Amino acid sequence: MTLGIYVHLPFCRVHCAYCPFAISTDLSLQSAYIDALIREIEGRADGEGADTIFFGGGTPSRTAPQDLARVITAIRNGFDVADDAEFSLEANPEDVTPEAIEFWRSLGVNRLSIGVQSFDDRELQPIGRVHDAARAREAIYDATSSGIRTSIDLILGLPNQTAESFRSSLDEAIATGIGHVSIYMLDLDEDTALRRRVESGVVSLPDEELISGLYVEMVETLRDAGFAQYEISNFARPAEESRHNLRYWRRQHYHGFGLGAHSFIGERRFANTRDIHSYIGGVVSDFSEELTENERRHELVFLRLRQTSGIHYEDLLRLCGEEAVGWIEHGVNEGWLQRDGSRVAFTPAGFLVSSELISQLF
Ligand code: SF4
Repeated sequence: MTLGIYVHLPFCRVHCAYCPFAISTDLSLQSAYIDALIREIEGRADGEGADTIFFGGGTPSRTAPQDLARVITAIRNGFDVADDAEFSLEANPEDVTPEAIEFWRSLGVNRLSIGVQSFDDRELQPIGRVHDAARAREAIYDATSSGIRTSIDLILGLPNQTAESFRSSLDEAIATGIGHVSIYMLDLDEDTALRRRVESGVVSLPDEELISGLYVEMVETLRDAGFAQYEISNFARPAEESRHNLRYWRRQHYHGFGLGAHSFIGERRFANTRDIHSYIGGVVSDFSEELTENERRHELVFLRLRQTSGIHYEDLLRLCGEEAVGWIEHGVNEGWLQRDGSRVAFTPAGFLVSSELISQLF
């Protein structure tokens, strides 16, 4: 069985106000970090086959070319990377130029995931993005015209966002010719600068009902434009799905290297520290756990149901018992579940509250 490989490159020019990820703006640590990352890859690599690679962050596109090349060499030396492996790199618009794309492609990168977030400067400014909408347009043009597979990220629920401005960002995304779009709901669960500003009343957000309505509407808009939804937040033209991310939702194995990176090997999940100084110092582990039978069942149901392909009716009963029969009937009657032959899946409205609904099964 082949593996996926995730590499976390945590350096960013600024810390965006909404960002809960393991990142660092101290670029003086970059070289020591890359050394530690390569040590970790070399320490765990065992020659296994790998068919997806994902460089995420942070801002991988800010990594110095020679450092990026060193990391890729370590991966190719340590794993048997398939010739047709999907190799994605996250990039921020300000770093995307024809020359940068050419360099990344020379290293084997064949998919760019560009963090656009919005095409409206009034929405980009309060979340502290470095780029503006014009720079994002240029970056997407450079990527799509180079022929590399391109995905963009947008966020629903931003400060200053209205129904009109969101629809306009979505229409613009569709018109660019990209093959894939990820649309995330703004997440204020973690302690971030934006959450503090919202709590203190300095910044306000669009109301939840509006966001829910826009989510359901965008699924239709994207479908009409040829993008099939395949997961809560992910939409692709035919054959443009992220094979690496599908691996997570299908419970297939992956190694995660770098700050805060998670791995799933065998039935063991483990994660690295989020403290960059500890990581550089060689203290890598944060936790490691073998899932119990109950956790495994819960995870399986949760991961299948976050995909539009859903779960087989009989599998759901096997995993959750006969109570699932009533849950399915109730969901179909209320419109948050759909049954297509032997498969059960959430409707777009169901995706909005899927975690709460799934917890009723356990
Ligand atoms: S660029 Fe991305 S990873 Fe870096 S701080 Fe901003 S949102 Fe977070």
